[in-house]
Amino acid sequence: MSKVQKAALSTRAIHGHSARDAHGSPHIPIYNTTTFAFPSTADLLDVVDGRKPGSLYTRYGLNPSIFALEETLAGLENAEMAWAFCSGMAAETALFLTHGREGVVCIGDAYGGTLELLASQLPLLGIKTHLILGSEIDRLDALLAEGAKLVFFETPTNPTLELLDIRAIAAIAHAHGAKVAVDNTFASPVNQRPLELGADFVVHSATKYLGGHSDLTAGTLMGCKADLMPVWNWRKNLGSMIAPETASLLSRSLRTLVVRVQQQNATAQTVAEAMLKHPKIARVYYPGLPEFPGHALACEQMHGFGGMVSIDIKGTGDDATRVADRLRLFALAPSLGGAESLVTQPCTTTHHGLTQEERQRRGISDAMLRLSVGLEDAADLIADLEQALG
Ligand SMILES: *Cc1c(COP(=O)(O)O)cnc(C)c1O
Repeated sequence: MSKVQKAALSTRAIHGHSARDAHGSPHIPIYNTTTFAFPSTADLLDVVDGRKPGSLYTRYGLNPSIFALEETLAGLENAEMAWAFCSGMAAETALFLTHGREGVVCIGDAYGGTLELLASQLPLLGIKTHLILGSEIDRLDALLAEGAKLVFFETPTNPTLELLDIRAIAAIAHAHGAKVAVDNTFASPVNQRPLELGADFVVHSATKYLGGHSDLTAGTLMGCKADLMPVWNWRKNLGSMIAPETASLLSRSLRTLVVRVQQQNATAQTVAEAMLKHPKIARVYYPGLPEFPGHALACEQMHGFGGMVSIDIKGTGDDATRVADRLRLFALAPSLGGAESLVTQPCTTTHHGLTQEERQRRGISDAMLRLSVGLEDAADLIADLEQALG
């Protein structure tokens, strides 16, 4: 157990693991090692059979660089345990194959890869999946009565930043003996901790805010030990382990998570307020704006409103494309959470695969741009948006 379990988040992000390096390094170095040697067969069997903790083989996750990362990750969400993965999708796949085999209900908009996995791929394995909109939440009860045992959603969602009520959904799911998993990638543990609100699992694409520099691909799944232990063999044999180099890089990133996200919250709020006043903007989607429909719920279940802002340009999809192409500081790239600000037009990138009717049903207009607000100066970002809109 780490020495700082009760400490505040920023302290836990830095001192969140209990391992002590033999040479006094304050952080666990990169153990590129694939296998670890034992003094005797008896010692080896103690680790293989789980009687003693220890390093054994890196694909199993039994590696000091990965242990240190997982202990820190668990602390950030107040989870009993965290498993690290080579990507966010790997974490989700292991979750669905372990706990979703009796059926998965996905509520609201989700990451494109998640929707493809749930709508097209898991059904090939005989897994029943149901994709409902946030506005169709009254269908949840009946779908759970049919036998689905896992409810999955993001909040705030991508790209409309719709807020879903974690406490209320957990109450409905638990009444049916189903478990609840929240993809907390957009909020990060700084702004929202779903396990404290009744969720059973949290997944992250650590590629985004946890990594924070657009230079690593990783994922994590967190929850209680009883729920996570059955995931272990799936991760091991799907081979979806994080590399030690990436684990170390991600541990490095976590040490600045709190200051990064708090600054991104503040800058995003300033950018959202400026866009709200801009004559060429039809609509601003940001949970921190009092006029935003999800604002009250965001105030209840979030500690900050995040770094993601979506805007509808007054005009057509082509007009929005021109604005995106004219931005200089906001790079045109489909990701989020890095130090550099990014822009995407959902209808040409993340939601390109959907028909226009389906995008409309989901409230995603062709004139929408999604901004991931980075760590640049707010005034410079607003000036960039103004020149591109001008
Ligand atoms: C990027 C992303 C994922 C997938 O993560 P990868 O690390 O790219 O596999 C899942 N959920 C959300 C919300 C994301 O933004």
